[in-house]
Amino acid sequence: MTLARVHGIALVGLEARHVRLECACTQGLPGLRLTGLPDTTVREAEDRIRTAIQHCGLTWPQQRVVANLAPADLPKVGSGFDLPLAVAVLMASGQVPELAGVWAVGEVGLDGSVRAVPGVLPAAAGAREQGARRLLVPDAAASEAALVEDLEVVAVADLAEVVGVLRGIRPARFAAPAAAAIDRVGPDLLEVRGQPMARRALELAAAGDHHLLLTGPPGCGKTMLARRLPGILPPLDADAALEVAAIHSVAGERPPDAPLAMTPPLREPHHTVSAAGLVGGGGGVPRPGELSLAHRGVLLMDELLETPRWVLDALRQPLERGEVCITRARARVRYPASVLLVAATNPCPCGNLGSPSRPCACRPDRIERYRGRLSGPLLDRLDLQVELRPLERARLTGPPDGESTRVVAGRVAEARAAARRRWGPGARCRDATPAQLRRATAPRALAALARAIDALGLSARAFDRCLRVARTAADLSGDELVGVEHVEEAVAYRLPVVTAAP
Ligand SMILES: [Zn+2]
Repeated sequence: MTLARVHGIALVGLEARHVRLECACTQGLPGLRLTGLPDTTVREAEDRIRTAIQHCGLTWPQQRVVANLAPADLPKVGSGFDLPLAVAVLMASGQVPELAGVWAVGEVGLDGSVRAVPGVLPAAAGAREQGARRLLVPDAAASEAALVEDLEVVAVADLAEVVGVLRGIRPARFAAPAAAAIDRVGPDLLEVRGQPMARRALELAAAGDHHLLLTGPPGCGKTMLARRLPGILPPLDADAALEVAAIHSVAGERPPDAPLAMTPPLREPHHTVSAAGLVGGGGGVPRPGELSLAHRGVLLMDELLETPRWVLDALRQPLERGEVCITRARARVRYPASVLLVAATNPCPCGNLGSPSRPCACRPDRIERYRGRLSGPLLDRLDLQVELRPLERARLTGPPDGESTRVVAGRVAEARAAARRRWGPGARCRDATPAQLRRATAPRALAALARAIDALGLSARAFDRCLRVARTAADLSGDELVGVEHVEEAVAYRLPVVTAAP
């Protein structure tokens, strides 16, 4: 009796775990018996693999096939075990040689084709970490897996090719990684007219990682501005880009052959998004939601006040912790979710409040209720709150009146470098402690801030949040000490949003 051993990968969130597949042909009625906590998809593999093996002119053993997936306590989910299982059956029945160290991931179709599954990138990275030298991967996901260093990725189209490669009678096709997209692509700030305060808020948000609220009537440029934020953020480094790509791979949102994106991601969930769609969830092992897909980038929540309150409440904890934690009966999954939140909203239900041309038809109590949907704790976390006015027609068609993305990105990079010099690598103004902030603030500025907070009736937490924004403003102007002017600017972004009718 031959005991075949093949290696696969189970993903729990982004975490890849080694799964050993042991397979033997024994006396008994033909059929496959799977042990080791396979889910329904894995159990259904028998039908797919048997048909595929026969379709490729190979033989399904006329014996009882026993396959065990170890460790037994780890749930095995999805169709990515098809390929290692098929190889194990072929090995156990002597149709391919008994090789050590065969690692594989992929789904097998009835016609024998090998198909991509979500999460090939983190699976390949995990395989490498667990000692794999070579990995069999579906053609469609091969360039993605090849992003992992020191791993030979063999692209396979179907079972016939797999058998040919393992028998040594067909050359292995080694995959090369798709080149990294280093060019910064995306819309330029130069295309935005007017709105100097909102532009400045965008720059502050990018320099200090402050969350941003843009309020204004439809068509005033809220979305246009927000979409230009990833362009002024520093590009991702190689590790961060791989991490972002891995999340998108697990979510099945990575197009095959997509190059590694170095620009921070931008996600724009619709306001009808469910809590699971936003935070993550779904059956089996939970999938990442929009918050994690926007990790290290920008989450744009347009029409924020149209989003149900309980969905908004689901945002709070991840915003604070920078990660999402989902607990299921069989698995506890963590996905990173460190995002820059840009919330955009109309000033009132009809959207016309503050518009010089169109009258607002909303009753004051309706406006109050509308704005009340933005809960205090979430509003508190939006350090930069800007009210945008509609632009005059002449401004819209006139020449560019602001700076380009390149110029602003340069200042942002310098301000972030200043924060790192002061507080160490990876430091951001958003995470600075109150003590750190006070140490680098002029006493006169602290007093001015205390007076302003009192006058506006803001919370004690708002004091430190304003001080963080002031620190970012000082870094943008190259000042070591936070002065009165920086504090005044920070407070201006905290003014209660009140729009007087024209
Ligand atoms: Zn209105």
